[in-house]
Amino acid sequence: MDRRQLLGLGLSKLWLTAFGTAAMALAQTPGPALAAERRPGRKPAGGASSRPRLVMLDPGHGGNDPGAIGTRGTFEKEVTLDIAREVARILAGRTNVAVKLTRRDDRFLALDERVALTREAGADLFVSIHADSAPNADARGLSAYILSEKASDSFASRLAQQENQADRFGKPGSFGGGRIVKDILLDLTARHTRHASLAARQLLVEGAGKELRLLENPMRSANFAVLKAPDVPSVLVETGFLSNPRDEEILRDATARRVVSRVLAREIAGVLSNPAFA
Ligand SMILES: [Zn+2]
Repeated sequence: MDRRQLLGLGLSKLWLTAFGTAAMALAQTPGPALAAERRPGRKPAGGASSRPRLVMLDPGHGGNDPGAIGTRGTFEKEVTLDIAREVARILAGRTNVAVKLTRRDDRFLALDERVALTREAGADLFVSIHADSAPNADARGLSAYILSEKASDSFASRLAQQENQADRFGKPGSFGGGRIVKDILLDLTARHTRHASLAARQLLVEGAGKELRLLENPMRSANFAVLKAPDVPSVLVETGFLSNPRDEEILRDATARRVVSRVLAREIAGVLSNPAFA
């Protein structure tokens, strides 16, 4: 039984009664057009279809927002796009996984817009890819975050604050007004989403750690705006930190990035087929 079926069974009465109107509005809300990699078919209600599960990859930053800039001049927005595109290329070769990207080129996307694209696509998993500047320059290695109002530590909290400022690069008021879901609906779906996000983070980090260097305490949480889809399990992966010279050396090297991409692709596919993530 997948996430939608579970929610459908548990919540159908509520959605049909008290929240029917809100649910209808949600279902009918149009979203921005997507450049589809491979459009997965929607799972028929109640059926045991084997439709591919959809991951939305989100290359952090872009356009006016370079993200972190390493001491050797490496732009985070370029590292994240390159890794995400390579992960997408690898995953496109699998029959049981469908993949989309929030951006395929060097353009600015507001954080809300990334969330909206993900929800509109009906993604099963959202993975935002980053290589930020760490609050501590010695910090290096891969880590992954899930959403939490309360950060796992001050390092995580500062990173999320820094990341949430990305929207300052956009036009004022150009996005962000579309709060389309009532808080009460968020509460109903949030529990399942949180469970699945926890499972995804654990599987991704444990799998990646077999080949890639991990940050100390790599399973983290903080209040990242881009992780706020209430109904799509979401993880933000810091592939490393451009504030660390050794991490920058790896992330600016095309061959090393291929390794990171291959590992991420393998582990994302593993999450999507893992019963703990169902
Ligand atoms: Zn970033």
